Parts: sequence; structure tokens; C-alpha cells
Amino acid sequence: MINIPKGTKDVLPDQSYKWQFIEDCARSTAAAFGMKEVRTPVFEHTELFLRGVGDTTDIVNKEMYTFLDKGGRSITLKPEGTAGVARMFVEKGLSSAALPLKAYYITPCYRYERPQAGRLREFHQFGIEMFGASAPSADAEVIFAASSFLQKLGIKDTRLEINSIGCKTCRAEYNAALRKYFSGYSEKMCPVCRERLEKNPLRILDCKEEECRKIISGAPSILDYLCDDCAAHFSSVRSLLDKQGVQYTVNSGIVRGLDYYTRTVFEFVSTAIGAQGTVCGGGRYDGLISELGGSSVPAIGFAAGIERLMLLMENTGVEFPQPPVPAIYVAGMDDDSRAEAFSIVNGLRQKGLCAETDLMNRSVKAQMKYADKTGAKFVAVIGGEELADRAVNIKKMSDGTSQSVAFEDIYNYLKQNI
Ligand code: ATP
Ligand code: MG
Repeated sequence: MINIPKGTKDVLPDQSYKWQFIEDCARSTAAAFGMKEVRTPVFEHTELFLRGVGDTTDIVNKEMYTFLDKGGRSITLKPEGTAGVARMFVEKGLSSAALPLKAYYITPCYRYERPQAGRLREFHQFGIEMFGASAPSADAEVIFAASSFLQKLGIKDTRLEINSIGCKTCRAEYNAALRKYFSGYSEKMCPVCRERLEKNPLRILDCKEEECRKIISGAPSILDYLCDDCAAHFSSVRSLLDKQGVQYTVNSGIVRGLDYYTRTVFEFVSTAIGAQGTVCGGGRYDGLISELGGSSVPAIGFAAGIERLMLLMENTGVEFPQPPVPAIYVAGMDDDSRAEAFSIVNGLRQKGLCAETDLMNRSVKAQMKYADKTGAKFVAVIGGEELADRAVNIKKMSDGTSQSVAFEDIYNYLKQNI
């Protein structure tokens, strides 16, 4: 037997309705905010992620699925959704479309990580990206969209944490302060952080090592280093959220996993799913489009991990709407009756109902057992008598009552009684 690769998951037929529910909520949320779906390839040139995610990030340093294709090109499976969408925006000249451009995607992502609860090698993201808007209202709208999505799913168990990581100007000063602070502890920090200290000290704040976390807790706060413009922007975002009644806490430790974030960053976090508690993360990335060769276009977005959302919903007892069941199972007692049942169910299917009949030449008893397993709401058994009468008793499974219905009236009967 060949097993599934480590860190990947199958979606079994009796579980897919949960995926469909989450995806439906994603699509309807996006639609309410005027966002249009985009699809980009699962693989891109490796260069895109080196630039689009940033070469001091965990993703680029250790998690990418990179290989040479048969033409000798370096290809990488997308580790996240933003870089591909940003590439599309630049390459297809979308800055000349009506701005802001609001896009969303549901996509698989690939990261070579150590698999554990909520951490997979193939996982899925629902993400949105908004290009062209620099006003604080854009930040508030994106956060509000994420919050509406979680609400639609029935998730109550998250808290929203927001922060501002400033722009190039204020960050230069902050990075210098971080360098000064952390260089006093460099002996005690993990080797990765020692390297970060050289290249990008802000990234140290994202370290998950316990020893580093202790040192981080005493680090200077970015909020004390924001320039006037960034501070004003952050304060407007906050008051817009306040006006909408969106609850949040300011956490100056949030920096997020991409290098091109500027100003607002945020996470929706839960304590109900263990260590991997971030179900949705996002922020402003005003530097990315120009980094990828486009003009200077502000952008902001978020990505939510679908597997983590599902885990959270399951762990906190959120009810998924029940998957649809067949309206009717029509059994046949002999070959002629089976043929009639077959044409009845096909007629019902063409009118949009889910109807089932026997495909395995089973006995009526076995057919009833199967009908029961499918959860069919009504069942009918056709034999010689029914064929002669062109009518059949339709039994309602929920209360056991039955009613004789002419073959040609079955659709109407079901429509009225489902
Ligand atoms: P973490 O700090 O948990 O590693 P991250 O900062 O790497 O998260 P992002 O790059 O912001 O995560 O991705 C957005 C979302 O995608 C995360 O909040 C999470 O819900 C989900 N996600 C990220 N990596 C994985 C993974 N390996 N398996 C499952 N979901 C993931
Ligand atoms: Mg990660």
C-alpha cells in the first residue's frame, strides 16, 4: 500500500461538506465586499518568492518546496498566496484597472515544515488582497472583512491583535534600537536570531524559541518609534475599528512572516487549538508591488488557514450545516421495476433533486438498508403492481407515514413535502 505523503491530508467524502461550508462563507464574504476571485499557478519562478516574501523570512530560509524543472529552471510551489497575486497585478498591468482592486483566492500552499496539529506541508488559504488604497479605511475594511468571515463561520473564540510596524523611515530608527538592545543578549539567543540581528532585527520578534521569547519581552516597542504619519494612520485605523464595534488589543510584538509589511499588521488568534493559534494574519504591504517591478502601489490583505479554522470550529463545537441528503430513494423489485425506478430518478435529477436508485442488483431489503444509510428523506418501492398502476407509495422516513403518488406527480409531491 502506498501512503499519503507526510504533512498532507485527504478530504474524505463524509468530511467535504465542512470544506464546502468554509469555502462558501469565504466566497460570500468576499462578494459582500466587492472582491473578485483570482487564480494563479501553484508553482512560480523561485525568484518571485525570494523577493515577494523576503529572503530573511522562515518561509524562504527553510520551508520552500523548490526544485529544478526539466528545463533547468528553479521552480517553487507557492508557500503563500500574496506573491503570486502581486506578480499577476504587475505583469498584467492591473494598476490601470479601477482602483482599489479587490481580489480574493482560495488556494493550496506548500511549506516544508515539521507536521503537527495545525501545521501541514500542504494546507489551504483563503486570502484577500486590496491594491491601490493607502487610506486607513482600507486597513479597517480588510480587518472588518476578516472579522465578518469568522463571524459567518460561527467562530467566537478568537481575539484580534493589531500593531503598526511603521514605514521605512521609522523602521530604520527602530531597527537600530533593536540592534542595540539585542546585541547585549546575542550570546543567549538562538543561532537564527543571531543571524537576524545582522540582517533584519525586526524578525527576531517573531522567534518562537523560549529563550529568545524571554529576551524579546524586554525589547523596545515599535509604537514608541512610529513617525507622525504612521502614528496618525494607526490611530485612524483604530478609531474606525472602534466605530464598527470591532474588539481588538494592540500587541506591539506582532511583526508577521513577510518582509514587505508596512504599517498595519494584524492576527486573529485562538487559544483553543494549541500552539498554532493564529488562524488568520494580514497587514499592509506598500513596498511589495514596486519590489516586484511595478509602480509604487499601496496594498493590504490577509490570509486565513482553512485547516486551522476547521480545527478551531471542531474543537469549540461550532455546528457545520448538515450536508444535503437524497430527496428520495426509489427501489425496484425486479428488472422491469428497476428500469422504471431508473427513469423516475433521472427525471427527478433533471429537475434538480437528488434522487437515488439501485445500481448493484440488490434485494429490496438491502436497497432499503442502503437508502437508510444515505439519509434519503423519502423511499418508494416499485414492483409489478406499481408498474401496472403507474403509482407508488412514497414513505416519509422521518415519521413513517406514506402516501400513494402517481409516477408523474412524484416531483411535485417531493417539492411540496421536503
Ligand atoms: P505561523 O506563525 O503559525 O507559522 P505564519 O506566520 O507562517 O504562521 P502566514 O504566512 O501568515 O503564517 O500564513 C497565514 C495563515 O496560514 C496562518 O495564520 C495559518 O492559519 C496558516 N498557515 C501557515 N502555515 C501553515 C501550515 N504549515 N499549516 C497549516 N496552516 C498554516
Ligand atoms: Mg510559519
